[in-house]
Formats: sequence, C-alpha cells, structure tokens
Amino acid sequence: MIRSVVIVGGGTAGWMTASYLMAAFGDRIDVTLVESPQVKRIGVGEATFSTVRHFFDYLGLDEADWLPKCAGGYKLAIRFENWSGTGEYFYHPFERLRVVDGFSIADWWLELGDRSKPFDRSCFITSALCEAKRSPRMRDGSLFASELDGPLGRSTLAEQRAQFPYAYHFDADEVARYLADFSVKRGARHILDNVQHVAQDERGWISHVRTEAHGEIAGDLFIDCTGFRGMLINQTLGTQFQSFEDVLPNNRAVALRVPREQATDMSPYTTATAMSAGWMWTIPLFRRNGTGYVYSDQFISPEEAERELRQAAAPGQEDLQANHIRMRIGRNRDSWVKNCVAIGLSSAFVEPLESTGIFFIQHGIEQLVKHFPDQRWDSDQIAAYNTRVANAVDGVKEFLVLHYKSAQRDDTPYWKEAKTRAMPAGLREKLDLSRSRLLDEETIYPYFHGFESYSWNAMNLGLGHLPRTAPPALKHLDPGNALAEFARIRSEAEEMVAALPSCYEYLAGING
Ligand SMILES: Cc1cc2nc3c(=O)[nH]c(=O)nc-3n(C[C@H](O)[C@H](O)[C@H](O)COP(=O)(O)OP(=O)(O)OC[C@H]3O[C@@H](n4cnc5c(N)ncnc54)[C@H](O)[C@@H]3O)c2cc1C
Repeated sequence: MIRSVVIVGGGTAGWMTASYLMAAFGDRIDVTLVESPQVKRIGVGEATFSTVRHFFDYLGLDEADWLPKCAGGYKLAIRFENWSGTGEYFYHPFERLRVVDGFSIADWWLELGDRSKPFDRSCFITSALCEAKRSPRMRDGSLFASELDGPLGRSTLAEQRAQFPYAYHFDADEVARYLADFSVKRGARHILDNVQHVAQDERGWISHVRTEAHGEIAGDLFIDCTGFRGMLINQTLGTQFQSFEDVLPNNRAVALRVPREQATDMSPYTTATAMSAGWMWTIPLFRRNGTGYVYSDQFISPEEAERELRQAAAPGQEDLQANHIRMRIGRNRDSWVKNCVAIGLSSAFVEPLESTGIFFIQHGIEQLVKHFPDQRWDSDQIAAYNTRVANAVDGVKEFLVLHYKSAQRDDTPYWKEAKTRAMPAGLREKLDLSRSRLLDEETIYPYFHGFESYSWNAMNLGLGHLPRTAPPALKHLDPGNALAEFARIRSEAEEMVAALPSCYEYLAGING
C-alpha cells in the first residue's frame, strides 16, 4: 500500500495537489507538504479555464465563500486585441457554436452573415455580455444559463459534457493560502523548510528529502511541485526536458500588479493584447488588475519590455514593482518517473496565452488519482499517465502555435518571424484544411487537451483566417432556420444584458 505522499513545493501546484488528495483519500493516506520560506512562488497564474470548477466542486467548496477570499473575478472569455491589426478585437468565449440543420452557425455566418459585424458578435451571446461587462450570475446568485447551474460534486474533467460559461480570475497567492488552510484542517502536514538534498536508494528511487531544520522526510510517493527548477524530477532523477522554444519562442515575462483607477470598471474577461515582441495580459481581480508582457528576448530586452508594459498598463505609476520571470517552455519527456510525479511548472508549461497552467495542474492531479499506484508500481499505469499528460500538453502547444500562425500582424521583426517559424507536425495540415472548411472534432488535435473545435474555429475566424467559402451545400438549404437562430442569439444577448448586474456589482455583493 502506498501510504505516505510527500509534496515538495507550496505554490498553486503544491496546494492544489495536497487539497485534492485530502479530498479524494482523506486520512487513508498521509500527506506532507514541504515549502521553502526562502524560495518565492512564481506569483502569477491568475486566469483559469472554465473546467476549473470541477476542481473546486470536487473539494466541496462554495464559490461565494472562496472567490471573495481570493480577490476573485469572473472570466467569460479572452478578448484578443490588435492581433489582426491596430484597434481590432474579438472574443474567444466559453461558449459552443450552435448547430442549425447539421451545420455550425459559423458555417451559416460565412454564407449569410453580415460581414460588417465580426463573427464572434454574430455567433456567440457571450460577446455581448463581455461588451456590457456583465456578471454571469443574476443578483439572486442564479446562473444566466440556468440548466448548467448547481454543484457538480466529485466529478472530473472526463465527465464534462456541457460547456460551462465562465472561469475565474484570482490572486494565486491567496488561492494557495486558502487551499493550504483547507488541506491542513483535513490533516495534511505542512512543513516550512528548505529541502537541501533529495536522497535516492540503490535503485535510484527517492527515499527521502533532507531539510535544514526538520531533518529527513521519508515517503512512498514524492510529488515535485518545485516550479521551473524541477528539483526532484529533473535535477535529481535527470528526466529530460523537451523544450518547445522552436515553435513557441516567448521565454520571458514581466508582470505588474496595477491598482484599477475605477474599481467598478471591472471586465469579466482576460485581455490578450498583441505587443511589439509578444503579447500583454490584463486580468481584472476584484481590487486590481494583474498585467504582464510575455515576450521573446531574441526580439526585445527585459528593460525595453518593462518600459513597453508600463506605458501600456500603468502610465505614470513608476513606483509599481515589476516582477521579471524567465519561463521554461516545454514538457518533461515523462512527468512520472520511478516514485516521483511532477505537477505544475516542474512538469510542463506552454506560455500563458489561453491560461492553461492551472488546467494542466488539475489534469495532472486527476490523472494521478485515476492511476494511483500500489506497491507493484505498475509500469503500464505509469506509462498511461505519462501519455495522457504529454498528449494534453502537446495539444495545447499546437493550439497556441495556431494563434501566431493565423494572426494577421507582420509589422515588427517578431511578428514577421512568426510567419516563417517552425510549427508542430500536424498543424500545417490543419491550417491548410481550415482554408477550405471549418475544423471539427475529427480534424482538430485528436487527444484530450481541454479545447474543443469551437475554440480552434473561434481563433481562426477571429484572427481573420477564414475558409475560402461557406460549405457549398448551404446554397441548397433553406436559410430560414439559420436566420431565425441569428435573430435568437441577438435577442437572447439583449435580454441577458438587460437582466444581469455588472460584474463588479455582483462581486461587490458577495464580497460583503
Ligand atoms: C508569466 C506566467 C504567467 C502565467 N499565467 C497563468 C495564467 O494566467 N493561468 C494559469 O493557469 N497559469 C498561468 N501560469 C502558470 C501558473 O503560474 C503555474 O502553473 C502555477 O502558479 C503553479 O506554479 P507552481 O506551483 O508549479 O510553481 P511555483 O509557484 O514556482 O512554486 C514553487 C514552490 O516550490 C517551493 N520550492 C522550491 N524549491 C524548494 C526547496 N528547495 N525546498 C522546498 N520548497 C521549494 C517554493 O517555495 C514554492 O512554494 C503562468 C506562468 C507564468 C510563468
């Protein structure tokens, strides 16, 4: 029996893992988390994916309780600004495309749509909620899409059937603190100490970690949550890290926490604004915005990037402290090696575009529970875990490269180079295909990676990478149903905008 689990690292990854294991197994296992008081957490990671609610519901947490304690806000979409030309923008929402007479409403938009109105504002209702900065919840707390309301219980990503309409923005440090409290109350042991050495037995398996003040901490299973340094998985076990820099060259970021001028002016979306050598995130939390510039240092220096970020996000606020971060982009060949599983930045990271870091953590933990070992350490189970984790990361990698390939900008050396840069095998075929028709579930990256075909199409169409024509069959179909559906989308959006409170107003209510 595997009884004792030792987690090294107390960032979002460490505490999400500890809390999930406590919720799953309770006192049937012993969980110890060792966290260094000297090595700071990465301090970013504020935007999530809509599926993160499976995680919070699995823990039995109530959004109205934890969200205000973590300075949280809502995220209905990502708004992409200036990716196709200055001043243009579109939304990539958490909303599936409707289907009319067997064809996606996006196909019908290509055939019938008013091209003076962008695709996203014709085909999704979420775009209207974003434009009006609405909360997805009514004043009484009910969700605007009432059929999707209610807790999910102990379900996992694999049980996601419907598209839930929002994700969260939150302060990553506060979430770590909240989950630490949750874990410790349920019996997890928390040790604040520096791990100095990771000891291996004669087979090379990890036997214990040695700390400065608490001596040796032994365990059966070790989880590496030490961030980009990968202290256990890479530094000790020597697992190969496969870089994605050939296709995703952004290797640095600079972040600023910016007080919002008007607290009430709170957007329910993340903004990703194209910059001269990368892009900038704006993440509205309850009392401030998280902002950051993700860039490649082949094209801009850290000092220039900080200057460009300050100009765009915080003009005149020179006193704000900038956080410069080097990023390790790629994944371990295997995230589970011997008795060590890497979760979080120690496992994989594909830059923050589309906010997938916390999604990878959630996926990794769920898969760990599904493949939890016993004393046989079944190598087939370990291999299956590694394949699932690698597939999810590789799918997101392809999807992110599509953003740069389909973007219409070529006004700086960075954006020019993006057009000629290498791309993952398989993406070229998909991009060629998407010149003649929209992508569907069979033509996007074939393994679970968190994104459905609607996301791939929302990005291509939003970025201006359109099929040459609508499907010829539509010319032989009666357009009446499609026209009625466009009208329904418009009227539903108007009704929701009228009925829902602003994002700030609703959150102010639950913040007391
Ligand atoms: C620029 C940037 C932006 C991002 N934005 C997003 C986003 O919007 N959405 C999203 O989902 N994800 C995002 N991410 C990813 C997200 O930040 C991470 O997935 C998440 O914070 C998890 O980090 P972590 O816990 O793996 O590592 P860290 O936060 O780095 O934590 C490492 C932990 O290990 C401990 N440690 C290290 N060495 C030792 C030692 N010797 N002994 C004991 N403890 C030790 C540290 O004390 C710390 O507690 C972003 C990442 C970056 C770099």
